[in-house]
Amino acid sequence: MKVLVINCGSSSFKYQILEMPEGVTLCSGLVERIGDTMGSLTHKVIKNGEEKKYPFEQPFPDHTAGMHAVVKLLTDPEKGVIKDLSEITAVGHRTVQGGERFIKACVVGDAEKQAIRDLSPLAPLHNPANLQGIEVAQKLFPNAPSVAVFDTEFHATMPPQSFIYAVPYEYYKKYGVRRYGFHGTSHQYVAETAAGFLGKKFEEFNCITCHLGNGCSMTAVKNGKSFDTSMGMTPLAGLVMGTRCGDIDPAIHPYLMQNTGMNAEELDAVLNKKSGLKGLCGVNDMRDIHAARAKGDKAAQLAFDVFAHRIRSYLGAYYAVLGRVDAVIFTAGIGENDNHCREAVCKDLDHLGIAINLEKNNTRSGDVRNISADGSRIPVLVVPTNEELAIAKATLKVLKK
Ligand code: ADP
Repeated sequence: MKVLVINCGSSSFKYQILEMPEGVTLCSGLVERIGDTMGSLTHKVIKNGEEKKYPFEQPFPDHTAGMHAVVKLLTDPEKGVIKDLSEITAVGHRTVQGGERFIKACVVGDAEKQAIRDLSPLAPLHNPANLQGIEVAQKLFPNAPSVAVFDTEFHATMPPQSFIYAVPYEYYKKYGVRRYGFHGTSHQYVAETAAGFLGKKFEEFNCITCHLGNGCSMTAVKNGKSFDTSMGMTPLAGLVMGTRCGDIDPAIHPYLMQNTGMNAEELDAVLNKKSGLKGLCGVNDMRDIHAARAKGDKAAQLAFDVFAHRIRSYLGAYYAVLGRVDAVIFTAGIGENDNHCREAVCKDLDHLGIAINLEKNNTRSGDVRNISADGSRIPVLVVPTNEELAIAKATLKVLKK
């Protein structure tokens, strides 16, 4: 059975077709710069273990146009992987904000679409884009149910002491002001994979997951459930990210508005798009930061130090929150690939039972691996995330019900 997974952003979307339940990827791709004068589509086909890449440049006025181009490729005799669109059994959609309304993935009908729309004020950059993806898919694949899989779902188990902000309680009741948490599919996937790797029962497994990509978040997983997480009501909170500031003193908002003349919307854009690593040193890709550090660039060094320090602070906090930690897990672009970052985070933590083996840490691999030093009481693992597979699995689970 083939499941199409769609992850829609405001000006881009990723897609993947997986053969389920085996979880084998048949093709994947990325459509970018939707709405610009020139857009791009990169389509990858995996046949007999070999990957073939097909890049295209063409304008995509909207998501519908991008999806039409993808659908044409999917059924292309050379570049395609299906003969007919009816071969797609279901479409799984990454959906960012499910609020308290969606604590489980579900088939999307009109009522669910309206509810996802109603939640848009809590995820203005993401939910409208996710909805567009759902609407386009429902038109193009009328016989394949669309299933929404929420980033917030895994975190629905957080207890009130983790998700309540200390502001007047009525704001929670009236406006939904609380911590929701994001990257849930990834945190759950790597935590479950790690438990399996270590031969532990997931329902008894405690771990700290560090999802470090362009967006970054950490989760304290207690007995296989999210107990606390660093992102908040929106994905702006917590760790330092590529372009997002993460935690800052809330009093900085009025202070900057008074001193710079920015309005709330302008400040929000600065904190989301011009802050984080980029705000500190001008670039947001960790590889560029390392290249600059190697040349003695002080701003890049500072950005890296702030980034790693924040992760260490959360590591210590979640250690205390969990009491017993069975693993520390690194994942996503930086977590999986950046030995410098993992080293800086785990440095001098022997007293906490966390120590990594530098040789293992420096060895590149796409596999799940244990990089801890021999004497490390707590295993430190690198677990490649696979959000698409997790979404496809969740989609199947919903259909089976
Ligand atoms: P997204 O959050 O967009 O899914 P990814 O998880 O793919 O992002 O992470 C992208 C980021 O990972 C890049 O911006 C870059 O900072 C980092 N990254 C990717 N490869 C490497 C590498 N080899 N070394 C260090 N950082 C890397």
